Amino acid sequence: MVKELVNGFKNFRDSYFEKRSQVLQQLAKKGQSPKTMVICCSDSRVEPSILFGTGPGDLFVVRNVANLVPPFTSKDNVSIGSALEYAVKILRVKDIVVMGHAHCGGVAALCKSINNDKKGEVKDNPSDFIKSWVDIAKPALSKIDLDHNDANIEVTSERAVVLYSYSNLLTYPWLNDAVSKNSLEIHAWWLDFKSVMLWKKAQGSDSFIPMDF
Ligand SMILES: [Zn+2]
Repeated sequence: MVKELVNGFKNFRDSYFEKRSQVLQQLAKKGQSPKTMVICCSDSRVEPSILFGTGPGDLFVVRNVANLVPPFTSKDNVSIGSALEYAVKILRVKDIVVMGHAHCGGVAALCKSINNDKKGEVKDNPSDFIKSWVDIAKPALSKIDLDHNDANIEVTSERAVVLYSYSNLLTYPWLNDAVSKNSLEIHAWWLDFKSVMLWKKAQGSDSFIPMDF
């Protein structure tokens, strides 16, 4: 697989770079100035550059398990906090998109963690880091009955986690300030790669609506 990566880079250099060498040289010389930050899952099926047709210099991206943004006061926010701080204070991005996705293993791990905690099965499926990381988003699912046999429970949970991250963005004082001054807009999206649909949080509501194209 690493060989494929090396071959891929060779193709990038021979084709992509050849066509866009001026743009890439400018980025190297002048530095980056992306207008958009994307926060999405580490899942290999979620590739922002491919999904949105962007290239080098266009997106400032943070990927982590289950696209989480911990609250500003959380002790677990150093990595995402530093990326947000850089994006908002230094790069002054105009938009931040939090994008969740269908069949998210991270959100599934959170649901399992909540169920295990309820049953007292703390030793089931032990993990060094995953449980403590996904547990950050426990409050997101506090009003959802995970025992309820609902076909949409997975989607409902994934979207609730996106909304949790989205609302936590506003707990970062300088980010909140930028939103209040209309110099920054934040967005909550959910991707279904099976039906190739992109959903967005409706304005003034926590429900998700499909994007119009
Ligand atoms: Zn995921």
